[in-house]
Parts: sequence; structure tokens; C-alpha cells
Amino acid sequence: MSNTKPTIAVIGAGLGGAAAAALLQKAGYPTQVYEQAPEFARLGAGIHLGPNAMKVMRRIGIEDQLERMGSHPSHWFSRDGETGEYLSRIPLGDFAKEEYGAAYITVHRGDLHALMVDQLDQDRLHFGKRLEKVDDQGDQVVMTFADGTEATADLVIGADGVNSVIREHLLGEEAPIYSGWVAHRAIISAEKLKAYDLDFEACVKWWSGDRHMMVYYVTGDHKEYYYVTGVPEPDWNHGTSFVDSSREEMRAAFKNYGPEVQALIDCTETVTKWPLLERNPLPLWHDNRLVLLGDAAHPMKPHMAQGAVMAIEDAAMLVRCMETTGAENYADAFELYRYNRFERASRVQKVSHDNTWLRQNEDPAWVFGHDVYEVPLKDPKTE
Ligand code: FAD
Repeated sequence: MSNTKPTIAVIGAGLGGAAAAALLQKAGYPTQVYEQAPEFARLGAGIHLGPNAMKVMRRIGIEDQLERMGSHPSHWFSRDGETGEYLSRIPLGDFAKEEYGAAYITVHRGDLHALMVDQLDQDRLHFGKRLEKVDDQGDQVVMTFADGTEATADLVIGADGVNSVIREHLLGEEAPIYSGWVAHRAIISAEKLKAYDLDFEACVKWWSGDRHMMVYYVTGDHKEYYYVTGVPEPDWNHGTSFVDSSREEMRAAFKNYGPEVQALIDCTETVTKWPLLERNPLPLWHDNRLVLLGDAAHPMKPHMAQGAVMAIEDAAMLVRCMETTGAENYADAFELYRYNRFERASRVQKVSHDNTWLRQNEDPAWVFGHDVYEVPLKDPKTE
């Protein structure tokens, strides 16, 4: 791989893998993407994309489309779930654009994902390819998939999520930690909410002692409203990534909450329940020709709405580091990447774990104002 760019395999076409592959392909790296799913569906979920993620979307070339697609909340409000009292008012909207250099939007996760996957070279995107085994032979990596096929690449990026096969290859088998909290997720038709004489704010988190409900629009036209909760549940023994929940379960979990939350529960048609999984910061993010990003490296509770955003920032930093060192020096590039991501990702993991983010007024600039392309690179060899 001396004169030409190395061939790269990205395992997993989630938000982190899609961002990495889009940026690599733009930078001219021959990049293949292997995704276990046979196809992607528009599952009922939303996502926040803060200015720190939108700056990466700008590089990918989809910032304007996302701005049109998403809802632009004027604030992140935190409110007491029982009394309705405002606990914090964090300005977003025009303030975010001016102060942090890009918009803060909330969007349907499926719409965002479809747009990102569309940016990839479709001839190099392979569905139904579940990686089973990876063999780093020193001069190349051989990947074996569940369908019995094999592929090779010079470098392999493990963007394969919380149960990453690449992480397991590097660090051994170890199940993620069940945090003791679940998240309920539901999309509500805004049409139904018109029956209530209530103000459904564009981005609001309702809190009480040990639980919360985060609510926001996931489309620019405000036709779809979404809630995602955090509720304690001591065990998760379902053996699946989510199960169906119910209005009754929601009523029981939020029985003391105010009228807006009760209206949302009344309007719920389907609601799913997801275990929230974590890992402690990993001692290793890369080895020889293999490197991790996103949930494969630092899965976290979603309570800062920054998990996917960290995967997207990782992708951008990884490509930046490869361009900085030259990809032939991939070992240096991978270490430069880890060194410049570890502290930030671990801090976000910790705050997400504690679930304190924006509960009270605080300055979010260290998260939203971050520009992964402008932040000075710290050199692991000299610091
Ligand atoms: P994933 O999204 O998990 O993608 C991994 C991909 O790899 C998948 O497509 C998977 O099918 C594929 N894959 C896995 N194994 C293999 C294999 N062996 N071979 C081939 N392919 C494989 N984050 C935010 O930024 N904002 C939010 O608002 C937000 N809300 C959340 C709400 C909930 C309830 C939860 C659970 C999470 C939330 N997150 C949020 C976190 C976010 O979902 C994750 O951090 C993010 O999806 C991580 O992206 P990723 O690309 O690293 O991994």
C-alpha cells in the first residue's frame, strides 16, 4: 500500500460507520462497508444533532438538507415532571448558530440515517454481511462473514456498535454492562395532540428523582413528536435489543407527571422499551490494522443525546488523523486519533451516566461549540 491509498473496510453502517465511510470516500480512500442488516427500516426514534455534529455534516455535504429536514428548537427546556416548574432554559435556535457555528436540530433517526447512507458509494455498501471473524495477518486483514464469504482490506474500522466483534477480537469476550435503566421510545402524531389545550414545546426534558422523559419534534413540519425516557428497571433478561411496552406501563412509570406527559401517554399507539447499556472506558481502541469508533469504543447511556454524535465526531477525527500522518503511517494515525478522542468521549460517557446534563442552567459550549476540524491536535509523542 505504499503509493496508493490503503483499502479500508468499515464494519457497520450505523451513524458512526456511515459518517466514517462517507468522509473516507470523499477523501479518496477505497472504502467498502459491511453491514449485518439485510436493509434499514425507519424505526420510531429521534435524535438530536448539535452544532458539533452539524459541522461534520457540512463536510459530508448534507448540512442544508438536514436543516430543512429537522426541527429547530429555540431552547432545550428542563422542567419538573410533577410541578411543571422550569429548571433550565438552554438557548439553541439562532443563538446556537451564532455562538457554536452551526444549527441545533432534532430529527427522525431513520431519515438522518437514510440520508447518510445515500451519501455512500452504493456499489461498495454490502448489506447482509455479518462479520464473524477478523484475522489481522500483519500485512492485511481477512474478514469472514456469517454467509461464509471472505474479504480483505488494508485497514478495518470497527463501527459495529455495543457488541462489536472487532472490540471482542481486541479485548476478549465481555458483555456490556446493563445500566439498570431502560428507555421507552414512541412517536406521537402531532395531529392527535391538537385535541389538548396544552403547549407541546419543541424540545423539553421532564424530570423527577430517578426518571425522566425527553420530548421533541423529529420533523421540520412538526407532524411527528417523539418521547424517549429513562426509567429504572433492575434487570434486563429479554435477550433482545428491545421489547414492546404499553400505555399501561407508561402510565405506571409516570403517574405523578403533569398533563403534557399524560397527554403524550394517552396518544401513544406503539411504544418500545430498550435496555441502556454501557462499558467502562476501554484500555485499547486500536491494534495494528484494526481501530474502533462510536459505540464499539465507548457505549453510553443516551442521556446527553450525544452517543451517535460522539460516533460522528470520532469518524471525523479518525479521517483527520489519517490525513495528518499519511495513511501509510496508520499506527501513528490511530494513536493520534485515540489520544485526541479518549478524554472527550470518556467525559461524555460519565456525564451521560450521571444524567445531569442541562438539568440546571449550565454552559454547554464544551459540547456544542466543539469543532472536530479546528480543535488543535495533541501529539501523544510529546505530551
Ligand atoms: P450503531 O448505531 O449501533 O451501529 C452499528 C452498526 O453495526 C449497526 O448498523 C449494526 O447492524 C452493525 N453491526 C453490528 N455488528 C455487526 C457485525 N458483526 N457485522 C456487520 N455489521 C454489524 N445518540 C445521540 O447522539 N442522540 C440521541 O438523541 C440519542 N438517543 C438515543 C436513545 C436511545 C434509547 C438509545 C439506546 C441510544 C441513543 N443514542 C443517541 C445513542 C446512539 O444510538 C448510539 O450511540 C449510536 O447509535 C452509536 O452509533 P454507532 O454507529 O457507533 O453504532
